[in-house]
Amino acid sequence: MKNEPGKGDGNPADPSEGGPAEERSYHGIAVSPGIAIGPAHVSDHFDQAVPEYEIEAEQVEDERARFAAALAVSIKQLRKLKSKAQGLPDAASEEMGYLLDAHLSMLTNSRLVRGVDKRIAGERHNAEWAVQEEIAAIGESFSAMRDAYLAARFDDIRIVGMRLIRNLAKRPFEALSHLPDGTVILAEELTPADTALMDPRRVAGFATVLGGAESHTSIMARALGLPAVVGVAGLLAQPGRRDTVIVDGSAGIVVINPEPATIARYRERRDELRRQRRQLDKLRRFPAITRDGVEIALEANLELPRELEQATAAGATGLGLVRSEFLYMNRDTLPGEDEQFAAFRDLLKGMEGRPVTVRTLDIGGEKIAEALSGVTGAPSANPALGLRAIRLSLKERKLLDAQLAAMLRAAVYGPLRILLPMICNVGELRRVREALVQVARRLRRRGIAIPEQLPPLGVMIEIPGAALAADALAAEADFFALGTNDLIQYTLAIDRGDEQVAYLYDPLHPAVLRLIQFAIEAAHRARIPISVCGEMAGDPRFTALLLGLGLRELSMTPGNIPRVKQRIRSLDTVAASRRARAIMDQWDSGRIAALLDDFNALA
Ligand code: PEP
Ligand code: MG
Repeated sequence: MKNEPGKGDGNPADPSEGGPAEERSYHGIAVSPGIAIGPAHVSDHFDQAVPEYEIEAEQVEDERARFAAALAVSIKQLRKLKSKAQGLPDAASEEMGYLLDAHLSMLTNSRLVRGVDKRIAGERHNAEWAVQEEIAAIGESFSAMRDAYLAARFDDIRIVGMRLIRNLAKRPFEALSHLPDGTVILAEELTPADTALMDPRRVAGFATVLGGAESHTSIMARALGLPAVVGVAGLLAQPGRRDTVIVDGSAGIVVINPEPATIARYRERRDELRRQRRQLDKLRRFPAITRDGVEIALEANLELPRELEQATAAGATGLGLVRSEFLYMNRDTLPGEDEQFAAFRDLLKGMEGRPVTVRTLDIGGEKIAEALSGVTGAPSANPALGLRAIRLSLKERKLLDAQLAAMLRAAVYGPLRILLPMICNVGELRRVREALVQVARRLRRRGIAIPEQLPPLGVMIEIPGAALAADALAAEADFFALGTNDLIQYTLAIDRGDEQVAYLYDPLHPAVLRLIQFAIEAAHRARIPISVCGEMAGDPRFTALLLGLGLRELSMTPGNIPRVKQRIRSLDTVAASRRARAIMDQWDSGRIAALLDDFNALA
């Protein structure tokens, strides 16, 4: 167990280290169900190695820009932590506020910032190294003054410097391989790449200060079956030991240093949840068929290839969304065509003839791949609206062509479908289709085996404009996949990863439902298949509504398949359509939720 003072949400030096470990409970957003009980590990990047190299004169401006970007990210993080701290009890909120203000001031025209800038320009050191050197220099001058107050301030400067280095290096968290089995991770924030490195056999669950319910980190937690709570104010704020921790990913509760009686209560609850899970797993042998005999395709979303086994074990009828981003995370170099081909081929082989829908790269926004930093250019002020997903693929044709070639070659091994993320107009779809034809021609010329008929090319409907123009897209796309995660984010202007506005992230907002309905009707008119692969598909609360609106194909995290199947088997599609019509007549989310929940309660 590691519990270092002066870290995380920025807590001051810990006076009570070694004192009695008091039970403390925190509330956050429940994002991945289940209960984890285990030794705590506070993940803070403090032990990370700092890269050191010299730069050429012509690289100085780029390096300064890189430092400026890390500075901006650090300021944003501290502001977010500050606003989060305002929800804490008065004294804690005030103390945290002062501390975070102090950290913020160290990032604006301070000796630290000026010194780093000078070292980059004058000594031609890379930014991480420059930060480290400047901190060491400040430390030396402070220690020469032999003042206890300044010594404490130096600790803060060091903490701020480490934040800068972490944001510069953009390294994922340590592989966590040295931790005892069953460890529970506590962190300020985890990226999807950090989470992808967690081995569920070692890590029991996690809790973070920042993060929203539909962020990719949360989706990754559900994919790995790791109980998780995010957006926990004050989680790392209080000093003191953190020996054991409980993360209740179903209720959104974190208990630090639980009393034996609390542990016993949660163990019981955990055993009960496991029993329920085993019951549900028995549904695997039964089809997803409604009471009136309508069969629903229940497919799996794959974040990582290792979920394939889970998907087949859950009885997935196909893979409705393979997020190819996994091939680009946690590495310094880009994967080549052959590597991608092998990955897609293995998925097709594993699915034994069932359809596999591979999505082209959807990097950008909160999904960052260090290996792509060379092509994504300077960080955008609005990354969610910037050069990402299909826009990046169309700009960097080499990336797109390699993916298309890998998919075409893999398509020999089974029914592969190609899915395009963040399509906003027909022109983008046409350009990809042209690219696909060109790549196919090139492969054939080289004598490489690809199917005679090119795989179906579908689009994600996840931008409101795409939903509104669904008729135009349906005329040229071979299928639609509704990405409700982004559709909600963009329709309601709610950052899906920001816990501060999570309360506004509403799948039942009438605007969202109308866009979904619009896309379904356009697909039906054009007689093309349409599925949902956003998180709404995996929540049994929405199943009746989605079926009532006419959907017959749902794709979700494998772990959610049994629960959704259970709901489908209790439903009648005629009654569900009637209820969906009543819901679509409403303008008020509260009324919509009541109509849906009443209907669900009848089951
Ligand atoms: C979505 O936006 O709903 C979706 C499925 O894509 P992602 O979550 O990968 O952005
Ligand atoms: Mg999306």
